[in-house]
Amino acid sequence: MSNSTFEQIGKVLREHQHFAILGHVRPDGDALGSQLALALSLEQLGKDVRVWNEDGMLEKYSFLPRAELLTKSPARAHHVDVAIALDTAIQNRLGTALAAVGSAKIWINIDHHLSNPGYGDLVIVDVSAPATGEIIFNLITSQGLPFNHDIAENLYAAISTDTGSFQYPNTSARTFEIAAELVRAGGLDVGKISRQLYENYPRRRLELLRELLRTMRFSAHDRVASFSLSLKTAADLSVLPEDNEGLIDHLRAVRGVIVAVFFEELVDGKVRVSMRSKDEAVDVCAICQKFGGGGHTLAAGARVRGSLAEVEEKVLEEIRDVLKRGS
Ligand code: 5GP
Ligand code: MN
Repeated sequence: MSNSTFEQIGKVLREHQHFAILGHVRPDGDALGSQLALALSLEQLGKDVRVWNEDGMLEKYSFLPRAELLTKSPARAHHVDVAIALDTAIQNRLGTALAAVGSAKIWINIDHHLSNPGYGDLVIVDVSAPATGEIIFNLITSQGLPFNHDIAENLYAAISTDTGSFQYPNTSARTFEIAAELVRAGGLDVGKISRQLYENYPRRRLELLRELLRTMRFSAHDRVASFSLSLKTAADLSVLPEDNEGLIDHLRAVRGVIVAVFFEELVDGKVRVSMRSKDEAVDVCAICQKFGGGGHTLAAGARVRGSLAEVEEKVLEEIRDVLKRGS
């Protein structure tokens, strides 16, 4: 990625009229905040902008400014001038949002995932950025695109959530400078945003955590910790998919744990595997790629066919092998 890619993208944004801004399935704060921020900037330029993902806006992020712009991808395909995929490591993680774009003259891919192969015509994959929101901030400021309070709040939410509240290792001085600029120039109320992001969970999320902790397992001399969620438990507690975002952090936070894993049984005969590492030498992206997934060195995931018990065994065995080889 170079300055000239930012310039080419800036030019494409100014010179076209109809845009679709897309994000990945099972969206997180980074995908949603980045999509809304870029959409609002383009809206200020007078552009026609659709903002789609497979799941629509999540209840817990519905406080984001102009959240209503983000909708589920429509069943009928639309033709746009420019399709922009944000925070999406591989194109098929766009899910139904991919099919909603009937045709586009130009595809732009802006992301920060190590495993992104660089699909699209104009590509910025900045692995050093802790959040796609940080790249969108760089794009907006370097290209003089419109910026306002609502854009700032969406970008702040994107960066805060993807850095684990400015804690993860790729949080840099630049990240704090950007956050400061968002707070200052956007006139943000950090306390209010943090309450909405981190102190506004539904009670069922804690009830879910209680059930997950009952299934908690440690192995490899307590260096690997995991828990799992069956379809039955999810149904009994009426949990939404978004309720489990971040619960894996309880496992990662345990002293001595290097790899934390969360297994979630899905309706399609697959298991969603979510993985975290605390050691740069233990690359969970590489482990997840063996199972058809991807992500970052320290945070990755995959969807693996099989029963909960089968997938747990296979994946934990692979992690134990990797740790054994490394020690
Ligand atoms: P999470 O565990 O929070 O769902 O995902 C952690 C990271 O891994 C995210 O950056 C996400 O993009 C990536 N990831 C999660 N699941 C998958 C998957 O099934 N395929 C790929 N390629 N990446 C995934
Ligand atoms: Mn992200």
